[in-house]
Amino acid sequence: MKTKAAIIYKAGDPDAFRYKNIELRPPGKDELLIKHTAIGVNYLDTYYRSGLYPVDFPVIVGDEGVGIVEQTGKNVTEFNVGDRIAYPASKCGGYAERRLITASEVVPAPSSIPDEIIAASLLRGMTVEYLVQRLYQIKEGDTILVHAAAGGVGLILCQWAKYLGATVIGTVSSEAKADIAEKHGCDHPIIYTEMDFVEELKTFTNGQLVDVVYDGVGKKTFMKSLDCLRPRGLMVSFGNASGKPEPFDVLELAKKGSLFLTRPTLFEYAHKRSELLAGAKSYFELLEKNVIQVRPGKVFKLSEANKAHQYLENRDKIGAPVLIPD
Ligand code: NDP
Repeated sequence: MKTKAAIIYKAGDPDAFRYKNIELRPPGKDELLIKHTAIGVNYLDTYYRSGLYPVDFPVIVGDEGVGIVEQTGKNVTEFNVGDRIAYPASKCGGYAERRLITASEVVPAPSSIPDEIIAASLLRGMTVEYLVQRLYQIKEGDTILVHAAAGGVGLILCQWAKYLGATVIGTVSSEAKADIAEKHGCDHPIIYTEMDFVEELKTFTNGQLVDVVYDGVGKKTFMKSLDCLRPRGLMVSFGNASGKPEPFDVLELAKKGSLFLTRPTLFEYAHKRSELLAGAKSYFELLEKNVIQVRPGKVFKLSEANKAHQYLENRDKIGAPVLIPD
């Protein structure tokens, strides 16, 4: 069977995508053939595209999508033809009209939640699920710092952490983003382009600093994030929006107060089928209860994957882009 896909032959800028027909084999015994109704676009895809994360070319990036099952492999019992499904962490293959996917990577998509909301947020929402419930269990009385608090992950993180009882401090680059973060659970947005976020955080916490820093910005914020943590606080470096953090001296963790540092990925936290299903369930429940509200960004045709990447990497955007097959 032929299907359309956005393929990258060589690492490069967003114009590296080529939109082409590819041949798909029938599903293997544990696989599904799915037809996408919406496809998520994430920073991870840009890391593969740009060469920051090594990958074999040619590659079809895309780890997240929503679609309908068209064929099932002979061992698949959990899903049937016609089922509406979603996946958050498939390690590439997503930027295509149809794809094959191992059934164990897929979760049922609740009928109450539209395709575009799921595609814009399942990977980010499940990331937040493990960040606030499993990597660290946020509890009443915690104070946390969230970088890029008005970003895709940031807005979900602020809402979920607030729901669990934390005081949430966030960094944002503009007044407009501060306003949005505040409306989504951020108690104290700091416009870091106008003031030093470490000094402002010290003032706001009366010098007590924070229990956890969630840093998806990376290179630009990493070292200063360590200065925001109380002794024995936890530094969660979970992304590289500004580039990957520079290598650093581990003794800094001792000097700054016996700090903990982790560099987690959703793949690890959703690796077991039971964890994938439970994480998705937790996130979908909070969406359905309206505890978490998601604003999808702009919708692009699959043939415009280049524009979707430009949009994602543009600092002014609010809401994550989504691709829809042409
Ligand atoms: P965002 O919507 O948060 O966009 C990134 C934000 O980072 C920007 O809006 C901007 O906010 C801030 N930023 C600061 N410096 C830069 C820079 N130089 N270039 C671009 N942005 C910058 O993206 P996502 O929600 O999609 O992802 C956030 C992070 O989470 C990414 O690093 C991603 O890789 C990571 N991630 C990690 C996962 C994991 O399991 N480890 C899973 C999912 C995502 P501002 O203008 O306010 O500074």
